[in-house]
Amino acid sequence: MTTAMLEQPRLGGFHGLQLKPELLAALDRAKYSRPTPIQQAFIPEALAGRDVIGQAQTGTGKTAAFLLPFYQSWTPSEPQVGPEAIILVPTRELAVQVAEEAAKLNPNAACRTIAIYGGQRMRQQLAQLRRGCSIVVGTPGRILDHLSRGTLSLEAVRYVVLDEADRMLDIGFRPDIERILRRCPTRRQTLLLSATMPAPVLRLTQRYMVDPVHINVAPETVTVDKIRQTYITVDESRKFDLLLRLIQRSDVRQCIIFCERKRWAEDVYQMLRLHVKRSACMHGDLPQSLRNRIMLGFRQGKIKYLVATDVVGRGIDVRDISHVFNYDIPSDPENYVHRIGRTGRIGADGVAILFVTPDQGEQLTNIEIFINKQIPEEKLEGFVAYTPPPPKPQTATSVVKPLSQPIFGRRIKKYSNRP
Ligand code: AMP
Repeated sequence: MTTAMLEQPRLGGFHGLQLKPELLAALDRAKYSRPTPIQQAFIPEALAGRDVIGQAQTGTGKTAAFLLPFYQSWTPSEPQVGPEAIILVPTRELAVQVAEEAAKLNPNAACRTIAIYGGQRMRQQLAQLRRGCSIVVGTPGRILDHLSRGTLSLEAVRYVVLDEADRMLDIGFRPDIERILRRCPTRRQTLLLSATMPAPVLRLTQRYMVDPVHINVAPETVTVDKIRQTYITVDESRKFDLLLRLIQRSDVRQCIIFCERKRWAEDVYQMLRLHVKRSACMHGDLPQSLRNRIMLGFRQGKIKYLVATDVVGRGIDVRDISHVFNYDIPSDPENYVHRIGRTGRIGADGVAILFVTPDQGEQLTNIEIFINKQIPEEKLEGFVAYTPPPPKPQTATSVVKPLSQPIFGRRIKKYSNRP
């Protein structure tokens, strides 16, 4: 594997990348005036036909980075037995989003993209597949489903993209991904995008990519620097009041309120809708058609307050999200990064506030270790967020936990004495 040194983006927009005029015109229509760092580094390698690993977070322009080289190489041809490009993504929302970006940058109406994912009507997908397309973007499970029914053929595939590979492996898609890759022609170009490169992702690259070039534009710290992050200690019973206070005090353009469970998200939403207009709730139990409508409403700015769970929160790319409220602390530190990455998208600042109950100090510390950064505490003036527990008499058996990770010793010390 070779690693490309990342240069500063050259000035002069996309012209320096030698893209064809129809693509430059599409970029112009999309109002993309210059490539982002991942596009600047990734596109030339992909255009040269190499397998490429792009280490970049969402919000960096990675979708266009893998779409543009395909469009550059696409030429109108006789109807194929199936798509020429296949893009695997972890979630339905991301499938829709990638398909939208593909439509936005499409240089030729004859080059069609179809999004296929679970939860969508099979009949509709079958009709779309029968019409033919050049790009299929979808979740691994549903793509496999079509392969086993014989309604999708990968015979003509020459361009394979694994988007958000770390996330796909996290949610258990590895066997499905491998099954799909094994059914793709060996003469193909494989591109992999991932925010992080844990061992399972590396193994995938070793097994299914040929001498890939590795481009890394992921920042040192996993979180996006432009986001102002704080946490507030709050009793479980006071969380909703705190949320209302924060909403009233802040200049919210659009926000996501993250909850750990579908049920909790629903509860918070039912309370919230009594206080604010333009709110909605998104979780995995809602029918896909409703989820699509809500996403559209959110993207169009009609919905201002979106209460969501992680599964749908991930991949949401809406420019105007000014605030992310982590109503429930995420049990997996990685989800924290994905949640707050919904704000502070290209060129915008964002605010991320994490609600921490007094007994969740350890989880907070785990997040800080993961992002390698201490999150400052915030207090709301005039708002009693929690009642400190009465001091417990020290007994010979009350042991202070050893500091396994001394990096954020202050907080570990502060909380590890808690019963
Ligand atoms: P992504 O990381 O692919 O989810 O992209 C994040 C957002 O940036 C999307 O809304 C894209 O439409 C937008 N975007 C991608 N590339 C550019 C660019 N070169 N200039 C401006 N916006 C871009």
